[in-house]
Amino acid sequence: MDSKIWLSPPHMSGKEQQYINKAFQSNWIAPLGPNVDGFENDLKKYLGDSSYVTALSSGTAALHLALILIGVTKNDEVICQSKTFSASVNPIVYQGALPIFVDSEPITWNLCPEQLEIAIKDRIKKGKKPKAIIAVHLYGMPYKVEEISSIAQQYNIPIIEDSAEALGSSYKGKKCGTFGDIAILSFNGNKIITTSGGGALISKKKHLNDKALFLATQARDEAIEYLHSEIGYNYRMSNVLAGIGRGQMEVLEKRIEQRRHNFVFYYKTLQYIEDIEFLNEPKHFHSNRWLTTILLPSKEKRNRIAKALNEKNIENRPLWKPMHQQPVFKNYPCYLNGVSDDLFERGLCLPSGSNLTEKERNRVTDVIKNVF
Ligand SMILES: *Cc1c(COP(=O)(O)O)cnc(C)c1O
Repeated sequence: MDSKIWLSPPHMSGKEQQYINKAFQSNWIAPLGPNVDGFENDLKKYLGDSSYVTALSSGTAALHLALILIGVTKNDEVICQSKTFSASVNPIVYQGALPIFVDSEPITWNLCPEQLEIAIKDRIKKGKKPKAIIAVHLYGMPYKVEEISSIAQQYNIPIIEDSAEALGSSYKGKKCGTFGDIAILSFNGNKIITTSGGGALISKKKHLNDKALFLATQARDEAIEYLHSEIGYNYRMSNVLAGIGRGQMEVLEKRIEQRRHNFVFYYKTLQYIEDIEFLNEPKHFHSNRWLTTILLPSKEKRNRIAKALNEKNIENRPLWKPMHQQPVFKNYPCYLNGVSDDLFERGLCLPSGSNLTEKERNRVTDVIKNVF
């Protein structure tokens, strides 16, 4: 059997160990310390200095805190892109609030502006204005930033920008993670850079990040004794893991180039097959190409390719199953146009690691060519 090709494995630079050693030497084995501060500064510099960054234990924790900061509580409604990973939605339910799912458009595969406006108007008509909009840059492709922002502004609803898959992507030269009222990043093991597990909350307002830090460290009031007047969480990032993040930040640009190179390779090698469609970058959109995805003409064809890849020990995955189709979420309101259902039927994620070799990429495309 050929060796396993993974979808999106971790890719260390070699620098991480130095930062981890520093944490051990200084005994900062805690959810605070110089690596945490350093990692936050690295991210702040990368995103632009007007952003405040708080390093957390996961992207999910960042989303949870974002909802709390916006004031989402029991029985509130929060709009969420249906085509996403479940972590975008779960924190809405942690707050006792209701997810309202909105479909995608076919250009970026993200939140559809028309459906978004239909949903907002209908929720208001039914008596409740949504408290927030969770918009996702899926697979690294930015959502339609201008259209979505302008609708959110018109109705005065804050955007939580789920940039978990899009560190390094940009729209009109501006980095993903800087568009929402609050944005989140993830450094899970499968993301473009990793701390094994981790996340960050980003905003343009210092008081929001101060509050995020307060909530993430058990909401301790300023007092000599342990004084609490609010419910807190244990969501801060470990100083050991932040050391991995610091080593990864040194090669982020390289990782983006490598992922984008995967896309170009797949595109060049497979574009002659008319039955395969790629997710192209519209003008002004720049994707980190976290995962290269393809669309096939039918579910049967997609499944045949998936099976052939599995038989050759090559990991692959259908596109995210829309949240409105998930057993746990299927009873919540949704505003659909058929796009996310169709993408789910016909789409496939190909191995996209930044450490994928030429030989491995060829193994993938050989299998696909063989099916055709
Ligand atoms: C990975 C991911 C998250 C969650 O991040 P974790 O760090 O794994 O908690 C949220 N949203 C999307 C779209 C993701 O891909």
